[in-house]
Amino acid sequence: MTTHTSHTTNAEEFARARAAMPGGVNSPVRAFGSVGTTPRFFVSASGPRVTDVEGREYVDLVGSWGPAILGHAHPAVVKAVQDAAAHGLGFGASTPGETALAELIEARVTRDGARPVERVRLVSTGTEATMTAIRLARGATGRDLIVKFAGHYHGHSDGLLAEAGSGVATLAMPGSAGVPAPIAAQTLVVPYNDLDALREVFDARGDDIAAIIVEATPANMGIVPPAHGFNAAIADLAHAYGALLILDEVLTGFRVGTAGWYGIDPVPFVPDLITFGKVVGGGLPLAAIGGSAALMELLAPLGPVYQAGTLSGNPLAVAAGRATLDHLDADAYERIDRGAERIADAAASALSEAGVTHVIQRAGNLFSIQFAAEPPTDYETVKAQEAFRYPPFFRAMLDQGVSLPPSVFEAWFVSAAHDDEAVAQIVDALPAAARAAAEA
Ligand code: PMP
Repeated sequence: MTTHTSHTTNAEEFARARAAMPGGVNSPVRAFGSVGTTPRFFVSASGPRVTDVEGREYVDLVGSWGPAILGHAHPAVVKAVQDAAAHGLGFGASTPGETALAELIEARVTRDGARPVERVRLVSTGTEATMTAIRLARGATGRDLIVKFAGHYHGHSDGLLAEAGSGVATLAMPGSAGVPAPIAAQTLVVPYNDLDALREVFDARGDDIAAIIVEATPANMGIVPPAHGFNAAIADLAHAYGALLILDEVLTGFRVGTAGWYGIDPVPFVPDLITFGKVVGGGLPLAAIGGSAALMELLAPLGPVYQAGTLSGNPLAVAAGRATLDHLDADAYERIDRGAERIADAAASALSEAGVTHVIQRAGNLFSIQFAAEPPTDYETVKAQEAFRYPPFFRAMLDQGVSLPPSVFEAWFVSAAHDDEAVAQIVDALPAAARAAAEA
């Protein structure tokens, strides 16, 4: 369907962008480098659909990389932002809305009566949230080392890029230039789902480890669910050594359920700090760190751990976050879960029909295709898949009007606005894409 009067093409926009910005983008995977086609330049979005500069409409499974959980430009979210904007774009001072959002987060993240988030600090990006959580863990423990897992992505701060997922994985980079070796040395990288490897690291250096940081369920190397009880086991191990568990729910928080992955992991566990982003900001720049009052009150102005932000708790972002959380009721999650199930099932059938070796790993309503015979359990097995099958698959979907994440290492984001028509369009496009993957 054509809904926009076109004056330029995607190719023209990309050429112009490349002359103005490195790679033509403000975040690497948007350059479509690994999928071998021209990135689409979008001009509008509504519900489950996005429209590019050429006036072409796509059913969208990127969802702004997660925030658009109610669908794009949800009327209540847009209205909340407009109302907030009419009262001022920001004051650099406290607002009642910030407290209300903090209270919402604290109330929702609960399980069996436990409430791991007693205090919240709002920041602007997931990167800031994890960076601050790590500083807090170091400040609380007086220790320097951090443990992360290979293939997990926690944003682009210096200490967290080693063997990172997401764009770092897509570009096959081991880490990043520009990170001083002494800083990189403070991060110990362990294979995911490997408790023995983790125990060895703690045996050797446990007294110097401030925290383990973990994606609640990894979604930045494709979906790789935790082994049964893995989160509980690493929480226990960290605590046995006096270290903290930082649960990164930037991607999963308020997406896989009201209380995030924390609320649905088959084995309950106790995280010390939780980071949120994406959904909690409803599409505007907002993220958060939460934890017990005792830990969180180590932050300035009460404690010795410094953290600040000119735009932190921005009223427009707070309004978008509150309106989004307000509309994420049981019915919305039911629609997202059902849409995800139908699309994942249809993808599996189409790939089987085309004879493509694959697995579709799911974690709640998150899923992704992996071109492997056995379910990958860590970064090594993820990397061993036939990733070359994804670019033709992706392009065939795009040609049929479906916008997927432009990397095999990313999750597919279904929204509550993916109605029968949108799901049907995706389902109908899958067989041709599966055949393209088969021919790769
Ligand atoms: N943690 C996780 C689990 C993420 O998925 C991301 C972003 N994809 C981040 C942190 C970083 O968030 P941001 O891009 O907002 O800095």
